[in-house]
Amino acid sequence: MQFDYVVVGAGSAGCAIAARLSEDATPTVALIEAGGRGRNPWLHIPVGYFKTMHNPSVDWCYRTAPEPGLNGRRIEWPRGKVLGGSSALNGLLYVRGQPQDYDHWRQLGNPGWAWDDVLSYFKRSERQERGGNKLHGGDGPLAVSDMRAHRALCDKFIAAAVAAGIPANDDFNGTDQEGVGYYQLTMTNGLRCSSATAFLKPARRRPNLHIVTDAMTRRVILERGRAIGVEIERAGIVETVHAGREVVLAAGAIGSPQILQLSGLGPAELLRSHGIDVACDLPGVGENLQDHLQARAVYEVTEPTLNDEVNSLFGQMRIGIEFILKRTGPMTMGASQVGAFARTRPDCETPDIQFHIQPLSSQNPGHGLDRFSAFTTSVCQLRPESRGHVRITSADPNVHPAICANYLKAEVDRTTTIAGVRVGRRIAEASPLAEIVKDEREPGYAAETDDEILDWIRDRATTIYHPAGTCKMGQDDMAVVDARLRVHGVDGLRVADASIMPTITSGNTNAPAIMIGEKVADMVAQDARARSAA
Ligand SMILES: Cc1cc2nc3c(=O)[nH]c(=O)nc-3n(C[C@H](O)[C@H](O)[C@H](O)COP(=O)(O)OP(=O)(O)OC[C@H]3O[C@@H](n4cnc5c(N)ncnc54)[C@H](O)[C@@H]3O)c2cc1C
Repeated sequence: MQFDYVVVGAGSAGCAIAARLSEDATPTVALIEAGGRGRNPWLHIPVGYFKTMHNPSVDWCYRTAPEPGLNGRRIEWPRGKVLGGSSALNGLLYVRGQPQDYDHWRQLGNPGWAWDDVLSYFKRSERQERGGNKLHGGDGPLAVSDMRAHRALCDKFIAAAVAAGIPANDDFNGTDQEGVGYYQLTMTNGLRCSSATAFLKPARRRPNLHIVTDAMTRRVILERGRAIGVEIERAGIVETVHAGREVVLAAGAIGSPQILQLSGLGPAELLRSHGIDVACDLPGVGENLQDHLQARAVYEVTEPTLNDEVNSLFGQMRIGIEFILKRTGPMTMGASQVGAFARTRPDCETPDIQFHIQPLSSQNPGHGLDRFSAFTTSVCQLRPESRGHVRITSADPNVHPAICANYLKAEVDRTTTIAGVRVGRRIAEASPLAEIVKDEREPGYAAETDDEILDWIRDRATTIYHPAGTCKMGQDDMAVVDARLRVHGVDGLRVADASIMPTITSGNTNAPAIMIGEKVADMVAQDARARSAA
């Protein structure tokens, strides 16, 4: 198989890259995906993440190593393994982060990545239901819609947060992220709009785009310091896919560093310990791992919540019928309905915590709802300073790498998460929530001091599924790619997905990953034009 461009990974970023590169009919593009085409109907129903997460037919089902900061617990890390990647089983929340995140990337020495540089790529991808304006795109492929499921409890949360001093905000991607309001979702007509739906569906019949599914990329093939293709395994057969121009890895924050390491591009000592020849000693490959850790407080209330609806057969039938007839209701819910971005300290320039509010509760997300009426206020710190890693444990591509996020290692991560739990409490104690809250089930009122709250966080907190940073962009010794996302020390090879973020964005990471895909496609095309003009 011979193509001009080989894109590895059909996730949030990869679908955008392959679709944009193949808009020009001249180059040939192969998109290689380890997962399948995605025939499971739950992939298209927004609330389907409850069925697809932890399902090995579409989820890589990673787990972290025992996390020292979480009392040695191993945390489940779902990642999409299907066309659309993690955007096919994520919580649909459309959040870009803060302009300061990108200005910071630029300040770290990455020209072209300041907010003013990346905004046009967010807009290019977006089809905003409320219409386009100076901050939003109105005619891009990625549908962004308002909630189609409303619960009185959510309105009460918003009112209580306003009473507690958090301003109302009806657009977290507008002029200011701070505030409380409803999230917007990557959804169209009540159905999920994954990156595959947005970008691949309209492009899949192009004669120059070749989508290869169920094909695990084993390594990048290097010849005299240049990537000339990838080795894939399909149905037990190992094949070579040649790239005449470039290979772009978009296999995500776990897949991309794993493939680089298996290709001899990574920390020399780690590679040698697994018998892999070192093509280029890149100590940063797999390091700098960052994730958002969510602490899920649960409040029992005196009025029915989704727990009651979902735990009754009649409720389930009503929910199903509403979805079939109107494409509205709980089946169209994202992972959260209401969000809040707030500051734990007055001296913070921008919000440092994010809330995900759900009119339901669960001991373990994706594993069934509690049998009492309750809502959840999940809080996460937006800019964690703890750093972890992804490291291969074998030269066999089918063996999962070791993942350690080192949650809560940095003191500011601990203090901010504790402060976030306290902000959540303040909201639950404000009217009109106070009138219906019966009990704080988690962490429970007995947890009063910072140490007691921290003990609960260590015991119960979990990922909110945003791993990033493992092939970071930059110029320092630990950087893996430059500002045009070219792998340092190798020609013809780029990485473009959530792994290139030098620091995690202040919010959910799907829209930023898609923006990265949009931007790299532009850079690849620009560089090709420059080469042919030279
Ligand atoms: C359960 C869950 C809920 C989430 N909720 C939200 C949310 O509500 N909002 C939000 O903004 N973000 C959310 N996220 C995060 C967001 O979806 C991810 O950050 C984003 O999808 C990452 O995009 P990516 O392109 O970096 O990687 P991915 O989308 O994960 O794509 C990587 C692709 O590469 C493929 N791949 C990996 N290794 C190989 C290999 N060796 N060979 C071939 N293919 C390979 C994978 O199968 C996958 O398709 C959630 C994530 C999860 C898992």
